[in-house]
Amino acid sequence: MTNPPRVLIVGAGPTGLTAAVELARMGIIPVVIERSKTPSNLSRAVGILPSSMDIFEASGVDIPIRAQAIPFESFIAHDHGKVFANIKLTGIKGRNNHIFGLAQDQTEKHLRDKLIELGGDITYGAEFLSLAQDDSGISVSILGEAFRFDIVIGADGTQSAVRDALHIPYNGIDLPQDWSISDVDATGWQNPKSFQAFLLPNGHVVVVAPLEATRFRIISNTPDCLDSLPVPMDISNIRRTAQFKISVRQAQTYQKGRVFLAGDAAHCHSPVGGRGMNLGISDAACLAGRIMRGDLDGYTAQRHPIGAKTLKQSEQGRKFVTSTNPATRFLLRSVLRTAQNYSAAQRAFVHRALDL
Ligand SMILES: Cc1cc2nc3c(=O)[nH]c(=O)nc-3n(C[C@H](O)[C@H](O)[C@H](O)COP(=O)(O)OP(=O)(O)OC[C@H]3O[C@@H](n4cnc5c(N)ncnc54)[C@H](O)[C@@H]3O)c2cc1C
Repeated sequence: MTNPPRVLIVGAGPTGLTAAVELARMGIIPVVIERSKTPSNLSRAVGILPSSMDIFEASGVDIPIRAQAIPFESFIAHDHGKVFANIKLTGIKGRNNHIFGLAQDQTEKHLRDKLIELGGDITYGAEFLSLAQDDSGISVSILGEAFRFDIVIGADGTQSAVRDALHIPYNGIDLPQDWSISDVDATGWQNPKSFQAFLLPNGHVVVVAPLEATRFRIISNTPDCLDSLPVPMDISNIRRTAQFKISVRQAQTYQKGRVFLAGDAAHCHSPVGGRGMNLGISDAACLAGRIMRGDLDGYTAQRHPIGAKTLKQSEQGRKFVTSTNPATRFLLRSVLRTAQNYSAAQRAFVHRALDL
């Protein structure tokens, strides 16, 4: 291995960009390739958890994020047109004690800006196709030219070509239900700094989360989240609307030789709990730290159990929130009502729900 090692990062989503920023701030400028021709302007993840802000603080990327993002004030749950629980999200323990709402494309923009400030760059329109690994390194062809690297990080999402090249199984299930998502501009929205859930009949739910002062994410386990929203919203612009399905999968191992998987390439699960992007950011920071220390072989042992635990908790949360069983719905309402009434219960609920 050369010193410093030559590192290739495949994918400029939040995971790949975090790995690149972390390496760059510690002295290794990686090569970053991204299949898309331009940065994405679509958002998937909304919530930035304190664990991610802890990581972002090291490079200073937390500063522009803090300036733009919305600190969630509370989680408000509605049923039959009435608020039945209002749980403060401000009592989180730790130095970074807020959950921030920001569109994923903006989080990526701030990471990209930081990477460029640190001397790095991203090659867009460059698709990873295959690799060949031997004792002295890894050969990868980029835009028709052959390159050698010491370490490759596959941060190329759920359909990871890096994972396929390593023949690593991505075990799990694909859920049949259609979910819908929409990003809208709206003014005069009620409680614009709160994360709000509207319980509907038949185990359905619509969630509205602030992305910016007048930009909101609506997401539902119905085929049309805008149509399902049970209260009026003064929408001036629909930025996008789409349907998606959920997969719950995890790579059998996160490492083969000197090639590593991180983020959605290593795991994916439902958006309930808002953990996917944050888990990838933690993978990336962990891997970057291990690369700097030359301590690579414990990466899977460290991160795989954390991924497995997150998948399990997120599935428990999804089943709980979308259950059609009246007893489970009753329990859900009771848990939320109890959580709002006692500050210790509020803290316990938030810490448990987000595994803080
Ligand atoms: C509807 C929805 C809502 C969500 N909400 C939340 C939330 O609130 N909070 C949260 O934490 N998570 C959320 N998530 C999950 C979150 O979006 C993902 O976990 C996160 O984007 C994963 O980041 P990543 O960088 O690992 O992968 P990606 O964001 O998928 O990035 C992978 C990148 O690799 C590139 N790429 C792919 N193949 C190649 C190749 N062969 N060569 C080069 N480049 C390649 C892709 O173009 C892409 O830019 C949500 C997901 C969905 C679908």
